[in-house]
Amino acid sequence: MLARGARYISAAPYQRAVGYTGVKCSLCGERAVVRVAYAGVHLCEKHFSSYFEQRFLETVRLFRMLERGERVAVAVSGGKDSLTLLYLMAKHADRLGVEVAAVLVDEGIRGYREEKARAAEAYAREWGVELFTKAFREEFGFTLDEAVSALMLDGLRYKPCTVCGVFRRYLLNRAALELGADKLATAHNLDDEAQAFLMNAVQANLPSIAREGPRSERVHEKLVPRVKPFYFIPEKEVLTYALLHGIESPQVECPYIVYSLRHPLRRWLNEVAERDPGVKHKIIALKNSLTPFLERGGPFRSCRACGMPSSGEICKACQLRRYVEDLLANR
Ligand SMILES: [Zn+2]
Ligand SMILES: [Zn+2]
Repeated sequence: MLARGARYISAAPYQRAVGYTGVKCSLCGERAVVRVAYAGVHLCEKHFSSYFEQRFLETVRLFRMLERGERVAVAVSGGKDSLTLLYLMAKHADRLGVEVAAVLVDEGIRGYREEKARAAEAYAREWGVELFTKAFREEFGFTLDEAVSALMLDGLRYKPCTVCGVFRRYLLNRAALELGADKLATAHNLDDEAQAFLMNAVQANLPSIAREGPRSERVHEKLVPRVKPFYFIPEKEVLTYALLHGIESPQVECPYIVYSLRHPLRRWLNEVAERDPGVKHKIIALKNSLTPFLERGGPFRSCRACGMPSSGEICKACQLRRYVEDLLANR
């Protein structure tokens, strides 16, 4: 039985992307659609899907990410990873005993965000999940595009992705709080986490390494704990699952990706993984063995300007907001 979207299996780029070799499933002898290189097995569509869903459910259980009766806000960007997470959370909501809502942050990136947001809205409707949107323009008074043009005037002292990341995290947390959510689930996968570790490592950002784990604690009453059910799942597998279940996303890329250190690190890590399929797991294992020795840091205080969680007197979002406002005013 083939699910919606299975027609894409014959596409050569897809075969390269998932490492499909045309051999048989290691479990049942049916045609394999994916090679799970680090586990040394080939899986057919049915066995891959159940393997994937089991890993998702096991991660949620093992790390006690969700408790029965909780409300979980799923952060969706409209990309395949977050749509897949929303799909699985909606599919298993009854089994996990949770109530699911979706939150989306509209940064105001022309030619990119509108397209992705439309996909998120359509899928949320199809899967019966309510979607809540927070926009930079309404919350901060400027779009990311406007902020970036202002940052350029100051020689990009702050990178677009840094500013965007701070604002996005801030608004996702605010949205989750306003929804009364007990947890905020994000679709960060093994690749994202391995890249984040390397980025933090080269920037010697030890508190961030300590803080980024599969789940966070409620260290502040206004900080909704984050959970990452795809923490141990490689990006390739998330994309394969999305493909097999007909979950599609407009092929537009954020124009600011070129400014990010993540971009070259991602390429490099994938190159290394070609030779050593377990390298991303090894990086995460290293990170997790380091974490107990690192100082986690805040945010334990409340921002004097907005009252939201902060590690200093004024939270990063308020600091950056003022910085961008000043640049915009003096333009
Ligand atoms: Zn099989
Ligand atoms: Zn603040």
